[in-house]
Amino acid sequence: MTGNDKGKGTGTRLASAGRKPDWTGTPSNPGSVVNPPVWRASTHLYDDVAALREGGKSNADGHFYYGRRGAPTQWALAEALTELEPGAAGTLLYPSGVAAIAGALLALIKPGDHVLMADNVYEPSRNIGRGLLTNIGVQTDFFDPLDLDGFSDRFTPKTRVVLLEAPGSLTMEVPDIPAFAAIAREKEAISLIDNTWASPLGFPALERGCDIAIMSLTKHVGGHSDLMMGSVSAGESLYRRLRRTYHQLGQVVSPDDAALALRGLRTLQVRLERATASALEIAGWLATRPEVAKVLCPMLPGSPGHEIWARTFSGGCGLFSFILKGRTEDARARFIDALDLFGIGYSWGGFESLVVPFDPADARSATSWPPAGMAPTDRLGIRLSVGLEEPKDLIADLDQAFSAMEAV
Ligand SMILES: *Cc1c(COP(=O)(O)O)cnc(C)c1O
Repeated sequence: MTGNDKGKGTGTRLASAGRKPDWTGTPSNPGSVVNPPVWRASTHLYDDVAALREGGKSNADGHFYYGRRGAPTQWALAEALTELEPGAAGTLLYPSGVAAIAGALLALIKPGDHVLMADNVYEPSRNIGRGLLTNIGVQTDFFDPLDLDGFSDRFTPKTRVVLLEAPGSLTMEVPDIPAFAAIAREKEAISLIDNTWASPLGFPALERGCDIAIMSLTKHVGGHSDLMMGSVSAGESLYRRLRRTYHQLGQVVSPDDAALALRGLRTLQVRLERATASALEIAGWLATRPEVAKVLCPMLPGSPGHEIWARTFSGGCGLFSFILKGRTEDARARFIDALDLFGIGYSWGGFESLVVPFDPADARSATSWPPAGMAPTDRLGIRLSVGLEEPKDLIADLDQAFSAMEAV
């Protein structure tokens, strides 16, 4: 099972990742069940005092020690994520995606350092830069994620860390991540990417030049809208560094949530493929609608960033946005309220479709909205997370909601 999968296809690797026989059985019957049991364990017991003392000396992963270091349920999930991220030596699990981003940043910076964040990062990441990092004497500057030529000039001698995200939260622009990561490396800064949208299936981030890959497992990996978790994967030396801070911060995830995330992971590829195909169909339909100024879907030919996506990514997902042509906030609310199959709520990547309104201009500081070529009145965004429903039913739902929007 585990370990022999190099070179095998993604589905094959997803089916076996993390299933070490020691973790899915007993010493006399290793590997005797498919999934690791849910190990609810704070105390780990030792045979005698000598074993207790010996146990304290080993700091390795996958050894019983104390509940904060996890047990086979969490180890199996971390190991599976590591196996799915080519170039990773280990993965740390955090209680949310935001905890993963904050935990990784805290492990890498000290007072006086300088951090660069892409202007399209997830808003709570921006808040970490503006808040937590500022409070500990770290300056964060935001850069235009589409201005590759100007990127080198944004570094100072104190720049240690660059936080990237692709596509951008809400506005979905696609930075050329391998090119940005290469410049960061040249400048001896560590590049982190929030890779929640594509996952390693659509963008093997370490292989494509990033140093650290972060995901909110709450989204695609969980996939069923019933858990919160985040992950950070890295190569050997950075993994060691991240892990020290992780332990000092006392981070750990519950075994129940780890088991759910592991269950979600097994079907990640089929869910992503289905959601991507549906999203593409729906995005294409939206692009033909007179009520829509712009569809922001990297997988859709003609959409901003499509070429970079096609060149640098190997997969998509069900999350994309569109901008209403003109219209008022009331009209947008009528449209969203009229939707029947799209739940109104945050998060995404679940089996069920979701919708949220957003105002792109509010979430940017280094760049402005609307970009060149779009009318200033085209400023009301709608983000869809397309789930596993039949696309024709979702299109019919959107169609009737457009009618409801115009019927006043
Ligand atoms: C949701 C999200 C996060 C945060 O994840 P939580 O698990 O909700 O804390 C981080 N990055 C992106 C891109 C997200 O969409």
